[in-house]
Amino acid sequence: MGRGVCKYCGSTWKTEKDHVIARSKGGRKTVSACAACNQSKGDKPPMVWLRWLKKNDSYRWNRIVQYNYGRKNPIAKKVQKVRDE
Ligand SMILES: [Zn+2]
Repeated sequence: MGRGVCKYCGSTWKTEKDHVIARSKGGRKTVSACAACNQSKGDKPPMVWLRWLKKNDSYRWNRIVQYNYGRKNPIAKKVQKVRDE
């Protein structure tokens, strides 16, 4: 079932709602995320996940960097920060 575009990588494949901060940790805000990002992110906070990707999953990391290039939403700003670290 499609719920739009993945907020992390831009994919439209099997998008579903992701809690930006895990629900178990009190997070309430949700964004659309594709199944691959959702599974990869799990319960990790966004910055922890992005740093993990940068080190461990260059395919997904590069997709996310490209998709967020020049964007100004909170997730894109986190991506740009980790990219520049
Ligand atoms: Zn994605």
